Amino acid sequence: MAHRVTLIPGDGIGPELAEATRRVLDASGVAFEWEVVEAGEACIAEYGTPLPDHVLESIRKNKIALKGPITTPVGAGFRSVNVALRQTLGLYANLRPARSIQGLETRYEDVDLVIVRENTEDLYAGIEHMVGPDAAESIKIITRHASERIARFAFEYAVANHRRKVTAVHKANIMKLSDGLFLESCRRVAVDYDGRIEFEDRIVDNMCMQLVQKPDLYDVLVLPNLYGDIVSDLCAGLVGGLGVAPGANIGEDGAVFEPVHGSAPKYAGQNRANPTAMILSGVLMLRHLGYPDVAARVELAVREVIGEGRTVTHDLGGDAGTSQFADAIVERLAAGAAASA
Ligand code: NAD
Repeated sequence: MAHRVTLIPGDGIGPELAEATRRVLDASGVAFEWEVVEAGEACIAEYGTPLPDHVLESIRKNKIALKGPITTPVGAGFRSVNVALRQTLGLYANLRPARSIQGLETRYEDVDLVIVRENTEDLYAGIEHMVGPDAAESIKIITRHASERIARFAFEYAVANHRRKVTAVHKANIMKLSDGLFLESCRRVAVDYDGRIEFEDRIVDNMCMQLVQKPDLYDVLVLPNLYGDIVSDLCAGLVGGLGVAPGANIGEDGAVFEPVHGSAPKYAGQNRANPTAMILSGVLMLRHLGYPDVAARVELAVREVIGEGRTVTHDLGGDAGTSQFADAIVERLAAGAAASA
């Protein structure tokens, strides 16, 4: 039976990447029925909102979505569709693995980190207002419930994926109550995994420095929303940039898979952007749907094409277009299937 998946192409480079990803996933051997719905800038004229109700309904019904990036205006304009989706659908865990790809020139060869970012609260709760004409206030919300829930997600992920350690990242030396509560919650959950998964904590500024200098010391990181956003881009930089960084937003009742990067408007429509991050988000989706072997095959095909270096996109030093890169992966999958037949 085909898996019905909501596909949101998104803004900017999103539609090109979504098309490339869809072709690769269709070549994986798993049957998909794509329900394509638009969200983002293109919707505003027709629906008066970048996130129409039928998009949310489609994800609620299918419980799985693959999403391209969506532009969020800086300063004035609509609030982030991405944040709204995560909050409305209770997608509380943002999973962002960062693993080195052989053949990509980066500072380190063997980075293997997993970022687990709390996805529903912190400064992203969006509660901010002006205090008179010359001051603005944003409210940082941290709750015990959400903090323990994300900590448990990180530990369960570590157990299920044979990881050794969880590091909680915070700024509890300054934000003693909010980040203090996050840290206390992580410590409380860590006790349940004592003897199975190691636990430690780091202050976020020190964490950034350590990740740049010695990423091999770390394994699974669990962070409040804002630090998770920033540190996951740092980790993407360690393994080849935003073009290769996948992500998943996971909740009790559904999951939305999307690249870490944004809509990169300057590359829109040029068949130039790298679809790896979105394809690897599709790999996370395959694992979530219960196809670990297919996921491994697709990931291997991506890694082999990048490793060979002949058909890679501009950000990876090549001159292949988005669609040629996808073609190379589809061919590789077909060759693998023929060889094992
Ligand atoms: P961005 O991630 O879109 O781009 C930053 C730079 O990274 C680009 O200029 C490009 O050089 C590189 N890059 C990103 N993706 C790439 C790819 N697939 N292939 C090759 N190079 C790539 O970040 P930005 O410019 O800060 O944001 C643009 C818009 O995207 C903003 O409106 C922002 O709010 C939005 N955004 C959306 C999401 C999301 O939908 N989840 C995430 C981040 C940013």
